[in-house]
Amino acid sequence: MSNRVIAVLPGDGIGEEVTAQAVRVIEKLNAAFDSSFACQHAPVGGTAYDLHGTPLPEETLSTAREADAILLGAVGGPKWESAPRELRPERALLGLRSEMSLFSNLRPAILFPELADASTLKPEVVSGLDIMIVRELTGGIYFGGPRGIEEVDGQRRGFNTMEYTESEIQRIAHSAFKAAMQRDKKLCSVDKANVLEVSELWREVVTKIGSEYPEVELSHMYVDNACMQLVRAPKQFDVILTTNMFGDILSDAASMLTGSIGMLPSASLDSNGKGMYEPVHGSAPDIAGQGIANPLASILSVAMLLRYTFNENELGDKVESAVKRVLANGVRTADIANEGETVASTSEMGQAVLDELS
Ligand code: NAD
Repeated sequence: MSNRVIAVLPGDGIGEEVTAQAVRVIEKLNAAFDSSFACQHAPVGGTAYDLHGTPLPEETLSTAREADAILLGAVGGPKWESAPRELRPERALLGLRSEMSLFSNLRPAILFPELADASTLKPEVVSGLDIMIVRELTGGIYFGGPRGIEEVDGQRRGFNTMEYTESEIQRIAHSAFKAAMQRDKKLCSVDKANVLEVSELWREVVTKIGSEYPEVELSHMYVDNACMQLVRAPKQFDVILTTNMFGDILSDAASMLTGSIGMLPSASLDSNGKGMYEPVHGSAPDIAGQGIANPLASILSVAMLLRYTFNENELGDKVESAVKRVLANGVRTADIANEGETVASTSEMGQAVLDELS
């Protein structure tokens, strides 16, 4: 089988530390299951800025373009906060997303039963939580025009435009229905169709696309109600499909239900299944360099990469089951440990996953 290429962009701070463990997992898959994934490393973010004067060097972009999938760590840190806005590490993420049309953002919020105490909600409300938010990432009010601040009748007026074309809604809807087909086949589309025309169109188009996926049970919910339901009874959801802005808000709320940012992976996909996979967390400058970061979000990002780019569901299952067993065995990094529990380092946690991957 020819090599399947993964561009590995570790980035800054704990990005490097957690990605190193995820790469060990990929290497273990090659060795133990005869897979043939080739990793090509390239600098991104502040690290790339220091080396090449830009957070997204042309060479990194072409490595990413030529690969089948991208595994990213995290970017940013105080060292680069005074860099000009267009050269800040975070610009690399926007550059990668737009250069590769990564319009579909998949953010699971999973709470492993072993970690139910980590949530601020009652364990019975969140234990076993497993939902997936599919957020449109390159359109909507964050990109719509006209936008600006103008002077009208002696006072300033700020304005933005929330807009979606039918084709933008169609492609994100397909992405969400496909995700639902891989899961429990329930999709809830979140909008504000009682107030916004753009949401009316959204609802109409999503419903129409739904007829192509008869196995998926489709429902619609207003965004205000979705916020309430997410904290009241989050386990009622399987896949949530929503716009850029609503998804921004809902996915952060959902991730906090789990109480442990070091556990959450994400994917940003184009229409051909190519994707960028990364932990939800940032570069965590407060703990960078100490070897104590939780690598599981990055390792679970590898599981998503296996599923969504390579259709390797069995390998994805193996990685996720290994993580579950490690947690069941009581291995904990500092962020998920209870008081008095032994704390594993980043590499010890990585090793524990490798040991369960035979
Ligand atoms: P952060 O996610 O880096 O950290 C928030 C808190 O969570 C910190 O206390 C950190 O120690 C902890 N934490 C995060 N990941 C952890 C892990 N794997 N294990 C253990 N603890 C973990 O968010 P922040 O502090 O707001 O941002 C730091 C930098 O990261 C900023 O420069 C920001 O712009 C950048 N950032 C980058 C991304 C990205 O690359 N996708 C996302 C968010 C923030």
